[in-house]
Amino acid sequence: EIRKFDYSKDSLKDKIILVTGAGDGIGKVAALTYAKCGATVLLLGRTQSKLEAVYDEIEELGLPTPAILPMDLEKASFAQMQELAGLIEKEFGHIDGVLHNAAILGALTPLEMYDPITFEQVMKVNTTAVFMLTQSLIPLLRAAQSGSVVFTSSSVGAKPRAFWGAYALSKQAVEGMVSIFTQETQNMTALRFNCINPGATRTNMRAHAFPGEDPYTLKTPEDIMPAYVYLMTDEASGVKGQVIDCQPK
Ligand code: NDP
Repeated sequence: EIRKFDYSKDSLKDKIILVTGAGDGIGKVAALTYAKCGATVLLLGRTQSKLEAVYDEIEELGLPTPAILPMDLEKASFAQMQELAGLIEKEFGHIDGVLHNAAILGALTPLEMYDPITFEQVMKVNTTAVFMLTQSLIPLLRAAQSGSVVFTSSSVGAKPRAFWGAYALSKQAVEGMVSIFTQETQNMTALRFNCINPGATRTNMRAHAFPGEDPYTLKTPEDIMPAYVYLMTDEASGVKGQVIDCQPK
Protein backbone atom coordinates (compact mmCIF):
# COMPACT_ATOMS: atom_id res chain seq x y z
CA GLU A 1 0.00 0.00 0.00
CA ILE A 2 1.57 3.23 -1.25
CA ARG A 3 -0.04 5.42 1.40
CA LYS A 4 1.44 3.23 4.16
CA PHE A 5 4.84 2.69 2.53
CA ASP A 6 7.29 1.92 5.32
CA TYR A 7 10.39 3.91 4.43
CA SER A 8 13.79 3.77 6.11
CA LYS A 9 17.04 5.72 6.24
CA ASP A 10 18.26 3.84 3.17
CA SER A 11 15.12 4.06 1.02
CA LEU A 12 16.63 6.80 -1.18
CA LYS A 13 20.29 6.15 -0.50
CA ASP A 14 22.62 8.02 -2.89
CA LYS A 15 19.77 9.51 -4.92
CA ILE A 16 19.81 13.13 -6.05
CA ILE A 17 16.36 14.69 -5.78
CA LEU A 18 15.27 18.22 -6.63
CA VAL A 19 12.30 19.64 -4.69
CA THR A 20 10.57 22.87 -5.74
CA GLY A 21 9.01 25.03 -3.05
CA ALA A 22 11.37 23.35 -0.58
CA GLY A 23 11.34 26.21 1.94
CA ASP A 24 7.90 25.73 3.46
CA GLY A 25 4.85 23.50 3.82
CA ILE A 26 4.79 20.08 2.18
CA GLY A 27 7.93 20.78 0.11
CA LYS A 28 10.00 21.50 3.21
CA VAL A 29 8.93 18.29 4.89
CA ALA A 30 9.45 16.31 1.66
CA ALA A 31 13.00 17.68 1.34
CA LEU A 32 13.80 16.79 4.97
CA THR A 33 12.23 13.35 4.60
CA TYR A 34 14.14 12.60 1.40
CA ALA A 35 17.36 13.62 3.14
CA LYS A 36 16.50 11.37 6.10
CA CYS A 37 16.09 8.53 3.57
CA GLY A 38 19.63 9.11 2.31
CA ALA A 39 19.07 11.43 -0.65
CA THR A 40 21.05 14.51 -1.55
CA VAL A 41 18.34 17.14 -1.96
CA LEU A 42 18.47 20.17 -4.21
CA LEU A 43 16.34 22.82 -2.52
CA LEU A 44 14.66 25.08 -5.08
CA GLY A 45 12.55 27.99 -3.93
CA ARG A 46 12.10 31.75 -3.99
CA THR A 47 12.82 32.72 -0.35
CA GLN A 48 16.51 32.22 0.32
CA SER A 49 16.21 32.48 4.13
CA LYS A 50 13.67 29.64 4.24
CA LEU A 51 15.86 27.45 2.04
CA GLU A 52 18.84 28.20 4.29
CA ALA A 53 16.83 27.11 7.35
CA VAL A 54 16.04 23.77 5.69
CA TYR A 55 19.69 23.44 4.65
CA ASP A 56 20.83 24.02 8.24
CA GLU A 57 18.34 21.51 9.62
CA ILE A 58 19.63 18.84 7.21
CA GLU A 59 23.24 19.64 8.08
CA GLU A 60 22.55 19.53 11.82
CA LEU A 61 21.05 16.08 11.45
CA GLY A 62 24.24 14.91 9.75
CA LEU A 63 22.43 13.97 6.53
CA PRO A 64 23.86 14.27 3.00
CA THR A 65 24.80 17.89 2.30
CA PRO A 66 22.03 19.54 0.26
CA ALA A 67 22.28 22.35 -2.29
CA ILE A 68 20.29 25.57 -2.45
CA LEU A 69 18.89 26.66 -5.82
CA PRO A 70 17.23 30.07 -5.46
CA MET A 71 14.66 30.58 -8.21
CA ASP A 72 11.40 32.48 -8.46
CA LEU A 73 9.34 30.27 -10.74
CA GLU A 74 7.02 33.15 -11.56
CA LYS A 75 9.82 35.25 -13.00
CA ALA A 76 12.29 32.62 -14.21
CA SER A 77 12.80 32.28 -17.96
CA PHE A 78 13.29 29.04 -19.84
CA ALA A 79 16.91 30.08 -20.47
CA GLN A 80 17.49 30.41 -16.70
CA MET A 81 16.04 26.95 -16.12
CA GLN A 82 18.32 25.47 -18.78
CA GLU A 83 21.24 27.26 -17.17
CA LEU A 84 20.27 25.74 -13.84
CA ALA A 85 20.11 22.28 -15.44
CA GLY A 86 23.62 22.89 -16.80
CA LEU A 87 24.90 23.75 -13.32
CA ILE A 88 23.32 20.62 -11.83
CA GLU A 89 24.85 18.53 -14.59
CA LYS A 90 28.30 19.93 -13.87
CA GLU A 91 28.00 19.32 -10.15
CA PHE A 92 26.10 16.00 -10.04
CA GLY A 93 26.03 14.58 -13.59
CA HIS A 94 22.43 13.38 -13.30
CA ILE A 95 19.25 13.67 -11.28
CA ASP A 96 17.19 10.73 -9.92
CA GLY A 97 14.04 12.56 -8.96
CA VAL A 98 12.15 15.83 -9.27
CA LEU A 99 9.27 16.78 -6.98
CA HIS A 100 7.27 19.62 -8.52
CA ASN A 101 5.68 20.91 -5.35
CA ALA A 102 5.77 24.74 -5.53
CA ALA A 103 2.45 26.37 -6.33
CA ILE A 104 0.38 29.43 -5.54
CA LEU A 105 -3.32 29.61 -4.82
CA GLY A 106 -4.15 32.88 -6.58
CA ALA A 107 -7.65 34.22 -5.98
CA LEU A 108 -10.76 32.29 -4.99
CA THR A 109 -13.12 34.24 -7.22
CA PRO A 110 -15.61 33.57 -10.03
CA LEU A 111 -13.86 33.49 -13.42
CA GLU A 112 -16.07 36.36 -14.53
CA MET A 113 -14.23 38.62 -12.08
CA TYR A 114 -10.84 36.89 -12.02
CA ASP A 115 -7.93 39.32 -12.36
CA PRO A 116 -6.09 38.36 -15.59
CA ILE A 117 -2.70 39.26 -14.11
CA THR A 118 -3.24 36.88 -11.19
CA PHE A 119 -4.44 34.30 -13.70
CA GLU A 120 -1.15 34.52 -15.59
CA GLN A 121 0.93 34.36 -12.40
CA VAL A 122 -0.85 31.22 -11.22
CA MET A 123 -0.54 29.53 -14.60
CA LYS A 124 3.17 30.42 -14.79
CA VAL A 125 4.11 29.04 -11.37
CA ASN A 126 1.76 26.05 -11.26
CA THR A 127 1.86 24.91 -14.90
CA THR A 128 4.19 26.68 -17.34
CA ALA A 129 7.22 26.62 -15.05
CA VAL A 130 6.52 22.96 -14.26
CA PHE A 131 6.61 22.16 -17.98
CA MET A 132 9.72 24.28 -18.64
CA LEU A 133 11.65 22.88 -15.69
CA THR A 134 10.71 19.31 -16.57
CA GLN A 135 11.85 19.78 -20.16
CA SER A 136 15.11 21.33 -18.97
CA LEU A 137 15.79 18.45 -16.55
CA ILE A 138 14.81 15.49 -18.76
CA PRO A 139 18.37 15.00 -20.09
CA LEU A 140 19.59 14.74 -16.48
CA LEU A 141 16.77 12.35 -15.58
CA ARG A 142 17.58 10.18 -18.59
CA ALA A 143 21.16 10.03 -17.32
CA ALA A 144 19.87 8.39 -14.11
CA GLN A 145 19.26 4.66 -13.82
CA SER A 146 15.63 5.22 -13.01
CA GLY A 147 14.34 8.81 -13.18
CA SER A 148 11.15 9.79 -11.34
CA VAL A 149 9.20 12.99 -11.90
CA VAL A 150 6.43 13.65 -9.37
CA PHE A 151 3.93 16.43 -9.99
CA THR A 152 1.51 17.84 -7.44
CA SER A 153 -2.18 18.13 -8.15
CA SER A 154 -5.22 18.84 -5.99
CA SER A 155 -8.80 17.63 -5.76
CA VAL A 156 -9.74 20.51 -8.08
CA GLY A 157 -7.20 19.17 -10.57
CA ALA A 158 -9.35 16.10 -11.11
CA LYS A 159 -12.68 17.92 -11.09
CA PRO A 160 -13.24 21.63 -11.77
CA ARG A 161 -14.87 23.49 -8.88
CA ALA A 162 -16.56 26.90 -8.89
CA PHE A 163 -14.49 29.81 -7.49
CA TRP A 164 -11.19 27.91 -7.68
CA GLY A 165 -10.30 29.74 -10.91
CA ALA A 166 -6.76 29.60 -12.24
CA TYR A 167 -5.60 27.27 -9.45
CA ALA A 168 -8.06 24.57 -10.55
CA LEU A 169 -7.23 25.07 -14.22
CA SER A 170 -3.49 24.98 -13.54
CA LYS A 171 -3.81 21.69 -11.66
CA GLN A 172 -5.98 20.17 -14.40
CA ALA A 173 -3.21 21.05 -16.83
CA VAL A 174 -0.69 19.37 -14.53
CA GLU A 175 -2.71 16.15 -14.52
CA GLY A 176 -2.89 16.35 -18.31
CA MET A 177 0.87 16.90 -18.48
CA VAL A 178 1.51 13.73 -16.47
CA SER A 179 -0.63 11.75 -18.89
CA ILE A 180 1.00 13.19 -22.02
CA PHE A 181 4.56 12.77 -20.73
CA THR A 182 3.71 9.19 -19.74
CA GLN A 183 2.28 8.32 -23.16
CA GLU A 184 5.21 9.91 -24.94
CA THR A 185 7.79 7.97 -22.92
CA GLN A 186 5.98 4.63 -22.68
CA ASN A 187 8.85 2.77 -24.32
CA MET A 188 11.37 4.14 -21.86
CA THR A 189 11.68 1.91 -18.82
CA ALA A 190 14.05 4.30 -17.03
CA LEU A 191 11.83 7.39 -16.81
CA ARG A 192 8.44 7.79 -15.14
CA PHE A 193 5.94 10.56 -14.45
CA ASN A 194 3.37 10.45 -11.67
CA CYS A 195 1.30 12.86 -9.64
CA ILE A 196 0.34 13.22 -6.00
CA ASN A 197 -2.80 14.81 -4.65
CA PRO A 198 -1.85 15.53 -1.03
CA GLY A 199 -5.43 16.17 0.11
CA ALA A 200 -6.22 18.65 2.89
CA THR A 201 -2.90 19.22 4.67
CA ARG A 202 -1.89 21.59 7.48
CA THR A 203 0.07 24.35 5.66
CA ASN A 204 -0.11 28.08 5.00
CA MET A 205 -1.78 27.51 1.65
CA ARG A 206 -4.57 25.45 3.18
CA ALA A 207 -5.08 28.07 5.92
CA HIS A 208 -5.44 30.76 3.24
CA ALA A 209 -7.97 28.72 1.30
CA PHE A 210 -10.01 27.73 4.39
CA PRO A 211 -9.50 30.47 6.99
CA GLY A 212 -12.32 29.23 9.23
CA GLU A 213 -10.98 25.72 9.54
CA ASP A 214 -9.24 24.33 12.63
CA PRO A 215 -5.81 23.30 11.29
CA TYR A 216 -5.49 20.67 13.99
CA THR A 217 -8.24 18.63 12.32
CA LEU A 218 -5.95 18.20 9.29
CA LYS A 219 -3.21 15.75 8.43
CA THR A 220 0.31 17.17 8.64
CA PRO A 221 2.81 17.05 5.78
CA GLU A 222 4.66 14.33 7.76
CA ASP A 223 1.54 12.15 7.70
CA ILE A 224 1.44 12.03 3.90
CA MET A 225 5.15 11.36 3.27
CA PRO A 226 4.91 7.60 2.53
CA ALA A 227 3.58 8.24 -1.01
CA TYR A 228 6.14 11.00 -1.57
CA VAL A 229 9.01 8.66 -0.67
CA TYR A 230 7.57 5.61 -2.42
CA LEU A 231 7.37 7.28 -5.84
CA MET A 232 11.06 8.20 -5.62
CA THR A 233 12.21 4.65 -4.77
CA ASP A 234 13.28 1.99 -7.25
CA GLU A 235 10.35 -0.09 -6.01
CA ALA A 236 8.12 2.33 -7.93
CA SER A 237 10.05 2.04 -11.19
CA GLY A 238 7.07 0.38 -12.88
CA VAL A 239 4.54 2.93 -11.60
CA LYS A 240 3.67 5.34 -14.40
CA GLY A 241 1.05 7.96 -15.15
CA GLN A 242 -0.69 7.59 -11.79
CA VAL A 243 -2.40 10.23 -9.68
CA ILE A 244 -1.92 9.08 -6.09
CA ASP A 245 -4.49 10.48 -3.68
CA CYS A 246 -2.91 10.67 -0.21
CA GLN A 247 -6.27 11.04 1.52
CA PRO A 248 -9.00 9.35 -0.51
CA LYS A 249 -12.52 10.03 0.77
P1 NDP B 1 2.68 26.39 0.83
O1 NDP B 1 2.10 27.65 0.35
O2 NDP B 1 2.72 26.09 2.28
O3 NDP B 1 4.15 26.19 0.23
C1 NDP B 1 4.37 26.41 -1.13
C2 NDP B 1 5.85 26.50 -1.39
O4 NDP B 1 6.04 26.86 -2.78
C3 NDP B 1 6.52 27.59 -0.56
O5 NDP B 1 7.79 27.15 -0.12
C4 NDP B 1 6.65 28.73 -1.56
O6 NDP B 1 7.74 29.59 -1.34
C5 NDP B 1 6.89 27.98 -2.85
N1 NDP B 1 6.60 28.86 -3.98
C6 NDP B 1 5.48 29.56 -4.23
N2 NDP B 1 5.63 30.33 -5.30
C7 NDP B 1 6.89 30.13 -5.76
C8 NDP B 1 7.64 30.67 -6.82
N3 NDP B 1 7.14 31.63 -7.61
N4 NDP B 1 8.90 30.24 -7.00
C9 NDP B 1 9.44 29.31 -6.18
N5 NDP B 1 8.77 28.77 -5.14
C10 NDP B 1 7.51 29.18 -4.93
O7 NDP B 1 1.84 25.24 0.07
P2 NDP B 1 1.59 23.70 0.42
O8 NDP B 1 2.79 23.14 1.06
O9 NDP B 1 0.28 23.57 1.04
O10 NDP B 1 1.43 23.11 -1.07
C11 NDP B 1 2.39 22.30 -1.70
C12 NDP B 1 1.76 21.69 -2.93
O11 NDP B 1 0.65 20.88 -2.57
C13 NDP B 1 1.21 22.73 -3.91
O12 NDP B 1 1.44 22.26 -5.22
C14 NDP B 1 -0.27 22.74 -3.61
O13 NDP B 1 -1.02 23.16 -4.72
C15 NDP B 1 -0.51 21.29 -3.28
N6 NDP B 1 -1.69 21.02 -2.48
C16 NDP B 1 -1.74 21.38 -1.16
C17 NDP B 1 -2.85 21.07 -0.40
C18 NDP B 1 -2.95 21.44 1.05
O14 NDP B 1 -3.99 21.16 1.66
N7 NDP B 1 -1.94 22.02 1.65
C19 NDP B 1 -4.02 20.36 -0.98
C20 NDP B 1 -3.87 20.05 -2.38
C21 NDP B 1 -2.74 20.36 -3.08
P3 NDP B 1 7.71 30.69 -0.15
O15 NDP B 1 7.92 29.91 1.09
O16 NDP B 1 8.82 31.58 -0.53
O17 NDP B 1 6.36 31.33 -0.22
